[in-house]
Amino acid sequence: MTAAAMSASAVTPRGVAIKVSDLRMVFEREGRKVEALSATNLEIAAGRFCAILGPSGCGKSTLMMLVAGLYRPTAGTILLDGQPLTGCYTHAGIVFQSDVLLPWLTVLDNVLLPATVKRLPREAAVARARELLARVGLAAFETHFPSELSGGMRQRASLCRALLHEPSLLLMDEPFGALDALTRERMQADLSRLWASDLKTVVFITHDIEEAVLLADEVIVMSPRPGRILRRFEVPFAQPRPPAIRRDPAFHHMVDEIRALFEESGVL
Ligand code: ADP
Ligand code: MG
Repeated sequence: MTAAAMSASAVTPRGVAIKVSDLRMVFEREGRKVEALSATNLEIAAGRFCAILGPSGCGKSTLMMLVAGLYRPTAGTILLDGQPLTGCYTHAGIVFQSDVLLPWLTVLDNVLLPATVKRLPREAAVARARELLARVGLAAFETHFPSELSGGMRQRASLCRALLHEPSLLLMDEPFGALDALTRERMQADLSRLWASDLKTVVFITHDIEEAVLLADEVIVMSPRPGRILRRFEVPFAQPRPPAIRRDPAFHHMVDEIRALFEESGVL
């Protein structure tokens, strides 16, 4: 079976539409209740790149875990392509801030993990893994171990792993937060290019306003904890965006508008 045939048979080829209604999440630990999310309503159309922007502790990661089906909400519903989410959503790919690669596996075997877990045909999965690694400049490193890679390279490998099973939803939780500024810019360009080539739905969590405006079709701004949606901004620039967009006055205008909202709401 070819890589293309595997993707056609094993997964939904396009992005998934997300609808979050009155979502609330209260954590209870040692008798103490923490309301992480309150009355969150959100709609993301299939194939859109959505950035979720908010201050630390406002419930961004909680929202992502809920959309992945890894937490059960205290109240509210999540629909994925109109279907209520009841358990773990297996068509999602997830990238966290730390790369969580397994140190005893090579880069290739790390990228192949979802295929191993889902028991996808090995030959097709290897072909897809190699194609993804080539697309992010890691073709020559497939037999290396994570400890032999830089932080940026490890995060690239994590991205390949998240994309291996052709997810219809890519969830990214501050994926470039631990990288140096230049590596981060290269990763942003890589992600933008990869996303534009197959239009998965992306939920990209960040606390970096410029990063959100650079990458996303829409930016959802959250309030401090308990998090709720303050405002949604449509980002009008054509995708994929050249790095030079950072110098465009319209880009700065949008960043300033969002920064002003943070100032108004007491975050800055
Ligand atoms: P963010 O990702 O925006 O920084 P989080 O979603 O991680 O915020 O956390 C929101 C709030 O919920 C924080 O006050 C955090 O301490 C709390 N919280 C998050 N996860 C848990 C958990 N598993 N148990 C208890 N409290 C949690
Ligand atoms: Mg977080």
